[in-house]
Amino acid sequence: MDILELYKKTGALLEGHFLLRSGRHSPKFLQSTTLLQHPLYAEAVGQAIGELFDDLEIQFVIGPAMGGVVLAFVTAKALGVRALFAEKDGQGGMWVREGLTIHPGECFLAVEDVVTTGGSVQKAIQAAEARGARCVAVGAIVDRSAGRSEFGVPFRALTRLDFPTYAPDSCPLCQRGVPLQEV
Ligand SMILES: [Zn+2]
Repeated sequence: MDILELYKKTGALLEGHFLLRSGRHSPKFLQSTTLLQHPLYAEAVGQAIGELFDDLEIQFVIGPAMGGVVLAFVTAKALGVRALFAEKDGQGGMWVREGLTIHPGECFLAVEDVVTTGGSVQKAIQAAEARGARCVAVGAIVDRSAGRSEFGVPFRALTRLDFPTYAPDSCPLCQRGVPLQEV
């Protein structure tokens, strides 16, 4: 599966001038929600991610809301396990609501669409571990971290993309006066 082609085809590869969550600026942004709104593409992505982890014993898949909800669902469907999500707790962390079952000692896969710093998937991991489960791997559609993410467990992505990013004070797009969009 050509992941970048899938983002392009669905209009999910945005080009312009974007303020990333990391505070850096980039000419490109992957808007995974736009891709994942198509159930057939979402399922294909989930199937492919599931295959990256079929060597591991996993009882559930969790993703950070909102972006990771659909991805966790399709990946869990492919693996034949439960799909959970973690939500922002309003204090900078995340929690897993009571209605979502976690048995102590269960092993889980955490997923996020695009891993750049890995911050939000890390919070989802902490939320599930706070309920007594253990993260055994992290999965993503795209690894944009350029090797910087370190989760302490296997991290596998369908593809790796290294788009340029710039510090705000040395951004060529800012210098050309291109309007900055928050994403
Ligand atoms: Zn800029």
